[in-house]
Amino acid sequence: MLTQTVCPAGALWEQVLARVAAKDNSASLFLAALVPLGVKEQVLTIGVGDQLYAQWLTRTYGKILDEALHSVAGEQYSYCWQYGCTPNREVQEPEQSRTQTVSEPEEATAEPAQAEPKKFSGEQNFGNFVVCEENRCAYAAAEIAATDPGRYNPLYIYGGTGVGKTHLLHAVANRVLDLQPDAEIRYATCESVLNEFVEVLQNKRDRSAFRNSLRNVELLLVDDVHILGRSQQLQEEFFNLFNTLYGRGKQIILTSDKQPSEIKGLEARLVTRFESGVTTELCPPDYEARLAILKIMYANCEHPIHLSNEVLEFIASNISSSVRVLRGAFNRVMAHVEIMRIRDISVSEVEALLEARLMTERAAKTVSIEMIQQNVAEQFNLKLSDILGSKRPKNIAEPRMVAMYLCRKHTTFSLPEIGAAFGRNHATVINALKRVPEMCAGSEEMRGAIAQLEHRLCGARVSKA
Ligand code: ADP
Ligand code: MG
Repeated sequence: MLTQTVCPAGALWEQVLARVAAKDNSASLFLAALVPLGVKEQVLTIGVGDQLYAQWLTRTYGKILDEALHSVAGEQYSYCWQYGCTPNREVQEPEQSRTQTVSEPEEATAEPAQAEPKKFSGEQNFGNFVVCEENRCAYAAAEIAATDPGRYNPLYIYGGTGVGKTHLLHAVANRVLDLQPDAEIRYATCESVLNEFVEVLQNKRDRSAFRNSLRNVELLLVDDVHILGRSQQLQEEFFNLFNTLYGRGKQIILTSDKQPSEIKGLEARLVTRFESGVTTELCPPDYEARLAILKIMYANCEHPIHLSNEVLEFIASNISSSVRVLRGAFNRVMAHVEIMRIRDISVSEVEALLEARLMTERAAKTVSIEMIQQNVAEQFNLKLSDILGSKRPKNIAEPRMVAMYLCRKHTTFSLPEIGAAFGRNHATVINALKRVPEMCAGSEEMRGAIAQLEHRLCGARVSKA
């Protein structure tokens, strides 16, 4: 136990964290990201992103935090939250706390939370974005773009639907506004820009007003830029806009459902521009993160209805395609409990309630031989009939072997079954299984192609070939 005199917050916090970690791993994961700001009159001030997140932490881990604090420092100790601590500061400040001497009582350093003037929709910020391996890079890149604008320019974030792209854009906007409340920020979906542009072309709007609204900004956030592929004229406009902002060192962040080079109809000069900064992929979160997201949603529910951990775990483990779908499933369950006025809901009831969604999820996870053949043909710019046919030139024979190899790796079909699906016998498949790793060893291009295929077919988490 610590003495009851004032002690450095960093040292105290480390002991509290160690205590929490011994009891609850997931609690320590969340708490470790917070920052001890100071200890004064037996109150530990802990820095946290915002009030919403602090409320959730109190509800979810408040008890365990209290217990840990009492056991290391004494029953008379308590904690309070200080809002507005960014993850960047969170990493640095424990060091500073540690360097302070025991004889100098620490003050809580951050200013009290102030009423925020402007906010981007939904209060989506970095604090309530759950980070995991699948989104860590995109999260970090977005944070850097927000705190050190122009360093990663442009920042291009791509990923499937409902994985958090818009959330990260809003998080950047909100962070920049926190740092510079007067900053001119323009957030727009590419679709709305296209609609405005069409109006400009139809002379219903002033062209220079349209241009200025996009150009006279510190930060331009354009969501879903794959839409650009639809309009050559908008691409021309966008090209000029990009060059102007880039030339002025203004941060540009773009999101899309695919990489620049995969956007159909996107001019090469825009592909090059979009790829010239940092390109990062956002993938659907893993199980732990999905569970954490559900717990946040649950903690934020206005009407406290009881949901067991088993139910939350069931939803998290069975709904993995996107966070948006996860939210939909959660809302469905909550609405059911509320409407039916039931006090509790079992896993099997939840399973029945979400049946249709669960079937879609399962179907999405099943990779078929046909899907592999089709995807391989597309990847190598061949026709499906080439993959299925008997021609033997290298540019066809190699992709065909890749398709067989992927069928073996990602389906449960037997060698003869796979052979039959290609009009071959099992010996041909065995040969492919031997040849593909050799081809990969000799060609980075081939390794890249296979990695992309596996990613498309099975999601982000594929082991190396
Ligand atoms: P996208 O723009 O990629 O289609 P969104 O950003 O709209 O997806 O995310 C869909 C929903 O899921 C939003 O409510 C968002 O706040 C939430 N969400 C997505 N990823 C996360 C995450 N990692 N942590 C917390 N919420 C998330
Ligand atoms: Mg979006």
